[in-house]
Amino acid sequence: MRRPLVVGNWKMNGSRRSSIELAENIANSFRASDRHIESAVCPPDVFLADITSALAGSGVGLGAQNVSQFEQGAYTGDVSASMLAEMGCRYVLVGHSERRACFGETSGQVAAKFVAAQSKGLIPILCLGESLAERQAGRTLEVIAEQLDAVVEAAGLDAVSSAVVAYEPVWAIGTGEVANPAQAQEILAFIRARLGEKADTVRLLYGGSVNAENATQLFEQQDIDGALVGGASLLAEQFIAICQKAET
Ligand code: PEP
Repeated sequence: MRRPLVVGNWKMNGSRRSSIELAENIANSFRASDRHIESAVCPPDVFLADITSALAGSGVGLGAQNVSQFEQGAYTGDVSASMLAEMGCRYVLVGHSERRACFGETSGQVAAKFVAAQSKGLIPILCLGESLAERQAGRTLEVIAEQLDAVVEAAGLDAVSSAVVAYEPVWAIGTGEVANPAQAQEILAFIRARLGEKADTVRLLYGGSVNAENATQLFEQQDIDGALVGGASLLAEQFIAICQKAET
């Protein structure tokens, strides 16, 4: 059995105060009930220490949104995997489409970040997804395969199988346009099949405009083990409701 996982990606939103409040609300909900699913939030790095404290004893994990591919040194602005681990992070997103599109991260860099994260005991959440133009050109599977294979080549199949993979079609992120469950299932089944022998144990997430209303249908799909949630994770009630849907 794969334990469901729901991860909130807060992106570059919120103040220190609002972030602590959000984390406390989510943590309180988890403390008040006996949840079977696993959950984590990825705040901006500058708030990691505050959020670690706010989540203490709740079982809600901490993640980061990005990691340097380098271990240490003259890399102004970067944050290393060991620094994130020291701050209490369990997870880190790698290859989010906003990092690929806005900051020019290549599949090679994403693979190096994946390796750096795992070498320090972090669990990478590898994000894969095609743009609208790529989907319309019928290139979805080719794009997903290229993004996935770059990491498998660098890290090995076993390493990728011990991580988490999120399918996030770029056209569904922050747009309100969710992939229909069958579309998401098709791509996640493709990803699982590509992961070989250990594929059955790998947790695969869907991300892209997930909310409390559409979550149930998505979670009913065979290869969807949870969600990576952006916008809706900024509202405690929405995020908690999505977690509850993953529970059933
Ligand atoms: C994301 O940023 O990973 C994401 C899925 O965002 P949203 O839920 O807002 O589409």
